[in-house]
Amino acid sequence: MGTALNYGVCHNTMSDNGSDKINVVNTLFLVLTPIASILGLWWHATAYGVTWVEPVLFVIWYFACGLSITVGYHRLFSHRSHEASWPLRLFYALFGAGAFENSALNWCADHRLHHRHTDTPEDPYSASRGFWWSHILWVMIDEGGERVHDLSQVKDLQQDPILRFQHRFYLVIAVGVGMFLPALIGGLIAGVPGAVGGFVWAGLARTVFTHHGTFLINSAAHIWGTQPYGDANSSKDSPILAFLTFGEGYHNFHHTFQSDYRNGHRWYHFDPSKWWIKAFSLIGLKQGLKSTPDWHIEDKRRQASFESAAIAAGTDETRDLTGIQERMKNARSNFKRQSRALDKLLVERHGARKERQAARRQELEDAIAKLSDDIAAIRTEFAQIMNDLTLGKPMMA
Ligand SMILES: [Zn+2]
Ligand SMILES: [Zn+2]
Repeated sequence: MGTALNYGVCHNTMSDNGSDKINVVNTLFLVLTPIASILGLWWHATAYGVTWVEPVLFVIWYFACGLSITVGYHRLFSHRSHEASWPLRLFYALFGAGAFENSALNWCADHRLHHRHTDTPEDPYSASRGFWWSHILWVMIDEGGERVHDLSQVKDLQQDPILRFQHRFYLVIAVGVGMFLPALIGGLIAGVPGAVGGFVWAGLARTVFTHHGTFLINSAAHIWGTQPYGDANSSKDSPILAFLTFGEGYHNFHHTFQSDYRNGHRWYHFDPSKWWIKAFSLIGLKQGLKSTPDWHIEDKRRQASFESAAIAAGTDETRDLTGIQERMKNARSNFKRQSRALDKLLVERHGARKERQAARRQELEDAIAKLSDDIAAIRTEFAQIMNDLTLGKPMMA
């Protein structure tokens, strides 16, 4: 990471250089916004009464700012999971600032470090330092007495004039879009009560909800849930969290397949960010959506369940797992080879359909049927391997 664009030293070395300090601005903001929200909601309700205007503005701002973080800051800018046209990038830059989670460049620099060094001291919000550190304390405490965002992580994003502009005028945009604009719109609809309501509901209270939604991904999604794709790091899948965070709760999937535009990869997984990206791609405002092939996901899942079953079986010292590990290795490599071959044939079949080559089409159909049978046989072998492993069959090589 030591380059000319490195704006500071790494997180793990920072604390050696100076003592940790409370970041007064961040801390006051994070502590005062919930208090001001509760007082403001109560005062506004008693002084003016709540109409339809306030909840509607709240929901619009909650979605606009929340999706700008999950789709914009996270899946588009941090992970380059797809491409988006400039009006959408501008929207994410404006409403992402309104989420009060720093400029996109700073946010993505931290997030890329989080993925590169998950759970280690160089991870800015490492879950191995406990729930509260990863949830909120990392924002409140400047390690080594200085807040550092390693912008060498985001040189590609610095090429985007929209992101450079947003970085430069972050605070003005944040206050303007996140607080002033809902007040202005509330005021235009319903005068002073609407303006105060817009500010309190869609500005203050919405900011608190947006904050803690994001924070839960750094904390809870690294503590509670399942690990269907492996335990190489602490990330977890949790449908409940996905419900609260525009789909970001499938975090074990996300850490395993970072550049996938989906976090909930199945059609029924609750992932509004994925649906948003897909919808805009259908009208041409997004392109190049990256998604992991199903067989690759299946392979990772099978490997993960084999490994956890092997750990359980491995505690029995009378068993030698070498043979079954070898069987698993062979089955996986066959599965991957045949699945890749099948993908290729499916693409060819698509081309042949257009050209109306009947003979070639039949040839392809036969080859596809044969490969599909082979893959089904490998799946049976996978099931047999898991059976042998969990039922404790002797498995000498
Ligand atoms: Zn990520
Ligand atoms: Zn994570």
